[in-house]
This record gives sequence, structure tokens and C-alpha cells, in this order.
Amino acid sequence: MDRREFVITGAVAGLAATTAKRAGAEAPNVIIKKRARPMVISDRSGIAYTNGGPQSAVEKAFEMIVGGSDVLDALIAGVNIPELDPTESGIGYGGLPNERGVVQLDSCCMHGPKRQAGGVAALEGVRTPSVVAKAVMELTDHHLLVGQGAQDFARSLGIPIEADLNTENSRRVWLEWKRRVDPNHYLDPAQRRRRGYEAGLEMVREGLIDEETFWGTINCNGINADGDLCGVTTTSGLAWKIPGRTGDSPILGAGLYVDNDVGAAGSTGRGEANLYNLCSYLIVEKMRGGMSPKDAGMEALKRVQRNTVEERLLNSRGLPAFNLRFFVLNKNGDYAGVAMYGAGERTFAICTENGAEELSLEGLLEGSPTDE
Ligand code: ASP
Repeated sequence: MDRREFVITGAVAGLAATTAKRAGAEAPNVIIKKRARPMVISDRSGIAYTNGGPQSAVEKAFEMIVGGSDVLDALIAGVNIPELDPTESGIGYGGLPNERGVVQLDSCCMHGPKRQAGGVAALEGVRTPSVVAKAVMELTDHHLLVGQGAQDFARSLGIPIEADLNTENSRRVWLEWKRRVDPNHYLDPAQRRRRGYEAGLEMVREGLIDEETFWGTINCNGINADGDLCGVTTTSGLAWKIPGRTGDSPILGAGLYVDNDVGAAGSTGRGEANLYNLCSYLIVEKMRGGMSPKDAGMEALKRVQRNTVEERLLNSRGLPAFNLRFFVLNKNGDYAGVAMYGAGERTFAICTENGAEELSLEGLLEGSPTDE
């Protein structure tokens, strides 16, 4: 065993010992022989939610990766934690519903070494859309199933379909939003969007909705000691969306992109801005050209800023009136968490042999999206 192997093995045993203290589990017996430093990166929900259990998403995924699991299996087991957590209202079960009160979920995943991908959009009735996205990847000739077709596919695999994924909380805040926007009058699209958005922000300010879960999504990317990269993104999407609205999260190249030769990138934040610019693909391509994860992420944010010209999307400083974040990992295990603004949700999560950590996002722009 060379020094590198020794150091990582020792550190993994250290992490496992820490986890074992909480989980009562045995330390995994692993020897890491390859050059990459295993790690997992995600947005803040990867560390903030445990669904009442002992581990967050990044801890679960990291433990499985260093224990020898397939990286994508590990990441999906990780994101299943916030998907199933009823206190997280932007991902999976209990995610804030669409304008009709129906929870519709989006997810995609990519397997770097297998060069395979799958996704689902506007999926109803399944708490863990990431599991269905992976089944699309593994069991079909396709990359994306949506709506009823995605649900029928899940049912055909024996995945339980529930009538309603609302929790008491998501139903309560949806009813409150409905009351505020008066569904009996159909507004012109711009006004309706604005009113609905403002009503949502009003409710965040009043403490009815937690700011971080109003925008909730999890993107989680990981690398193992062989340098194999995978990623997954899963969300309930934009709160109060028009039924069928699909954001960036399930779209390959937007909510997630993985190239096993280069790196992985994924996003949270305003999906439309990302869809227009296909930022995750752009970031991976910039890294292929030699940029660091941080520089590549910043380059994508600058592209989004340049392409944001409509007045309704700009604040009074003429800057984007929304946030967008990227979680980036390259083939060497170097990583970055970047955002249009390092305001609002200010942190992201990683897990390495040193355990789980919450780190500050680096913002491209000063202030916050709503800075007047
Ligand atoms: N990006 C997600 C979407 O547009 C939402 C979010 O991350 O908050 O659906």
C-alpha cells in the first residue's frame, strides 16, 4: 500500500468511525487503490435533511461510494433521503404542488462510465422520481419519459403509485396561495406569473414557506476512487407551476450533465434560465477545454446574465432578478459551488474523507436578486 492509499484508507476508516457513532454501523472495510479522491457534492439540501435518520444525502452517498457501491446507486440512495423527507418542500414527497394542487416531480440521472442517462418529468404519485429516472436509463431505449407515460412506466415496474404526494404543510400553503391569487379570474400570462411569484415571495417573507425549500431541488454529483463520475438531480420544480411545466432538473445538459472523461455539473434555481443556456453541458465543455470547476461555473453564469434581457426578469439594477446555482466536480475530484448571487441560500454541501461540510457558494454578482 503506498502513502496515498494509506492516507485515504485511514481517512475513510475515520469517517466511517464518525458515522458509526451515529448510525451504530460497522466501519466499511475498504482499500482505495486509485488516484481519485472520492467525494460527493450537492446543494444545501444534501446536508440539511436526514428524514429523521442518521445521515444526510451526501453522507449516505459518500459512505456507499467508499464502500464500493456503484456511484450512481450511491447518489440515488443519498437523494432518496430528501425526496422522502416530508419537511423538505421542494423535493419529492411533500414538494410544493403545481397551481392545481398536484405534486409533479422531475428528475434525471447520468452514469459517467456507462455513458447512460434517464429522466422523468411531470411525474405524479411516486415519492422518489430519481428511482424512476434510473429505471428509464436502465430498462428503456429512451432518455426521458413524461407525465402519464412516466407514471404508467413506474407502475409497470411495481413501484407504488400514490393518489397524492401532498403533506399537510404543502396542501396548507397551496390553499393559501390559491386564496391569494383568486383562481376564478384568469389573468394575462405576465400578470399571473408576476402575481403568483409575488404571492409566493410574500408568503416566504411572512414565514409561511421556508425560503430555501420554496426553491428546493437537489443536485448531487459524486466520484469514486476509480475516477468514475455520476450525477442525479431531483425536484418538485417551481412551486405553483402550470401543470406540465417542466424546468431544467430532468433535462440532460441543463439540470445535469456528466462526462466520465471530464466532470459533472448540475443546478438549482430558475430552471427557465438554465434551459435557455444548457448550462450543465456548457460547464462540462468548459472544463474539457481546461477550465477549473469554479471558472467553468462562472462562465455559465455570465452567459445566463448576458442572455437575460427581458425587463420582467431584471431587477432595478438591470441584473437578473433570480438566482441560479451550479455544483461542479471534475475528474480529479476538484469542485466548486457557484451562484448568480451568493445571497439567500448561501451554502452548498460536500462530503469527503473528512466528513460532511457546508461551504459558502461563490456568487458572480454582488447583492441579491431582489436588491432594488
Ligand atoms: N430548477 C428547478 C426548476 O426550475 C427549481 C429549483 O431548483 O428551485 O424546476
